[in-house]
Order: sequence, then C-alpha cells, then structure tokens
Amino acid sequence: MLRGAALRVTRPRVAVLTAVHAHPHADTESIIRVVREDLGEVSHQAVYDVLRALTDARLLRRIQPSGSVARYEARVGDNHHHVVCRSCGAIADVDCAVGSAPCLTAFDDHGFAIDEAEVTYWALCPACLVKDSRRSTPVEHTRGRGAARGQSGQPPEEHPR
Ligand SMILES: [Zn+2]
Ligand SMILES: [Zn+2]
Repeated sequence: MLRGAALRVTRPRVAVLTAVHAHPHADTESIIRVVREDLGEVSHQAVYDVLRALTDARLLRRIQPSGSVARYEARVGDNHHHVVCRSCGAIADVDCAVGSAPCLTAFDDHGFAIDEAEVTYWALCPACLVKDSRRSTPVEHTRGRGAARGQSGQPPEEHPR
C-alpha cells in the first residue's frame, strides 16, 4: 500500500497502517499503544507524523465526530458514513444505500464541486440501550424536565430590566 502511494516503506509507517487496519476507528492514543507493542518505544510525535502522512496520501481516513477526538480507519475512498453512540462513543460503519458514489447528489450544490459527503448518525448503541432502559423510564424523564421548567421562573421577554 505504501509503495502504491509512492511513500517510502518504513517500520513506523508499516506498524501504524497495520494497527489501524486491525483497529478501525481507533484514536491516536490507542494507535500509539498498539504500535509500541509492535516496535517498542516510539514517540507520540513520530506516530502523529505518520498518521498525517498516511492520511494525506489517502491510505487512511481521519474522522472526528463532534465531541470526539480524531479517529482513523483504513477503509478509504468509499465515502461510507458512521453511526456514533451518544453515551459511550462507540462507532460503527454505515454503508450508504445509494450506489457507488453515495450521497453526492446535493439538491443545490451552489456551484461547488462536491466530492464527499459526511453523515453522522447519532444513536445509542445496543449495550447503552440496555443500560438506559434499566436506569429509568421515559415517563420519569418527562416529569423531571417539566418540573425544572416550572421552578426556573423565566423572566418575561417584554421586560428586560
Ligand atoms: Zn454506547
Ligand atoms: Zn468507518
């Protein structure tokens, strides 16, 4: 893969590529941990540099769901999307349902040459759904919110003073 992208083959590059292939959507800290198991001591900076070079060469794809640190994956070039758990941050791939150039047809592109669409589905993962349903019922949530609003005593907007 490195030679195909006209990159020099180095042990850190091979180790990072291998780590991301084995652990899709891993963050930088996890990748560093896996690479160190493979190579021994490697600096944070070296791994950052390799991640950037591999991402620039499009051998890796970098995603960063809002509220999350950057994560890397080796599944590139297919413009797949992600479903992210709001509770624990678990991420899974979602294939677009619309053919080989998915989601590229914007209703109005405003003259921009669109080449990628980024969609994040926010969700609760199966494990967190089970935890959530054990903790409380939806009825209790509704009651709590209503009570909080009643107590807050919002000032009427017509009288800013
Ligand atoms: Zn979860
Ligand atoms: Zn993915």
